[in-house]
Amino acid sequence: MSFDTLGLSAELLRAVGEQGYTEPTPIQRQAIPVILRGRDVLAGAQTGTGKTAGFTLPVLQRLHTRPNGGRRAIRALVLTPTRELAAQVGDSIQTYGRHLPLRSAVIFGGVKINPQIERLRRGVDILVATPGRLLDHVSQKTLDLSQVEILVLDEADRMLDMGFIHDIRKVLALLPASGERQTLLFSATFSMEIRQLADRLLDGPELIEVARRNTTAERIAQVVHPVDKRRKRELLSHMIGSNDWRQVLVFTRTKHGANRLAQQLEKDGLRAAAIHGNKSQGARTRALAEFKSGKVRVLVATDIAARGLDIDQLPHVVNYELPNVPEDYVHRIGRTGRAGNEGEAVSLVCVDEHKLLRDIERLLKRAIPRVVLPGYEPDPAIRAEPIQEGRKGGGQRRGRQGDGQARPRQQQRRSRPRAQSRAA
Ligand code: AMP
Repeated sequence: MSFDTLGLSAELLRAVGEQGYTEPTPIQRQAIPVILRGRDVLAGAQTGTGKTAGFTLPVLQRLHTRPNGGRRAIRALVLTPTRELAAQVGDSIQTYGRHLPLRSAVIFGGVKINPQIERLRRGVDILVATPGRLLDHVSQKTLDLSQVEILVLDEADRMLDMGFIHDIRKVLALLPASGERQTLLFSATFSMEIRQLADRLLDGPELIEVARRNTTAERIAQVVHPVDKRRKRELLSHMIGSNDWRQVLVFTRTKHGANRLAQQLEKDGLRAAAIHGNKSQGARTRALAEFKSGKVRVLVATDIAARGLDIDQLPHVVNYELPNVPEDYVHRIGRTGRAGNEGEAVSLVCVDEHKLLRDIERLLKRAIPRVVLPGYEPDPAIRAEPIQEGRKGGGQRRGRQGDGQARPRQQQRRSRPRAQSRAA
């Protein structure tokens, strides 16, 4: 099936063709015609499924084909949980909308507000925003949401996890009523909370669901290399060097661990950068750009920093440490093998992490093959020790990201149900 049959305009098809896409992904096939018809949508799709183009293309088309008489109001609002995702959605709008005269802007926290105010003043049709910074603008009366025709909530489950529900409610109060706007809700999971939010927000929505990444992840080759903790760094450098991996995303459990590992890899002669929540927005954007351009060969990231990262054709993901939350493993390995490309996910697992590995395999409902590498055999005399570092549940880290506004109470309350619903 080609893109031509979805009802998209020539300008959009041209932009899609320039991206080299030959056929729509399942979420695009299902979502685009429905959104073009003006229906509300509740879509279950994870990052990597092509969901961004799935809503961006039809939103652009609807705004283009329904001119608003030259008014300078914001016509479409996309809310995202994190700055990185906001920036990526903004990039997609630019890319797909390059042959249309629509103006877009991205606003998120952690950077100066004045240039954003300037940008808004010049007029914006499509605004992508994280909730906290959006409300900062609202309180400064620098934007008007009363004319919004289309609202998109992207990665809504993460927004709830991060405690953004109150902010979302405040934003909703500023928009036209649900019957007078089109609302699209994208979420990786359909928890009770998401369904309740959808009930409140959506008007007769069409339900669209595509396979979860972990059921479609066959093209991701997964392997566990058992190794002693103290030899992980040496093994990682050896694997990168001997296999000549050019672009590797490496996960650690903690920010400190990410920094330390990046420094050690540099000492081993591998260009590496760390990306985590304590880094400034500028530093994160720079590290990501250098990684994408190939200047940096190894990007060391914490789970939180990696949320929503979209890096094309990432061939290798390494779990330097297993995540405490098994669902994060699925998110991590989802960074590779994206949109039809082959990928490899390698986990370096020491004796302390055997329980975490069992939990992950229980979630995946399958065993991950173990391959002991010659020269790196674990010392059988080493006994497991409890894992001290890192977060314990699904919530601790989430509110730190986005706009940098911690919401501890909300996080703690939400951490457990989320982990359970994902595991279900
Ligand atoms: P997303 O799920 O929106 O984060 O998209 C994941 C990746 O798939 C992005 O790098 C897109 O550029 C890419 N992509 C989106 N649609 C297509 C398509 N129809 N064909 C090939 N790649 C695509």
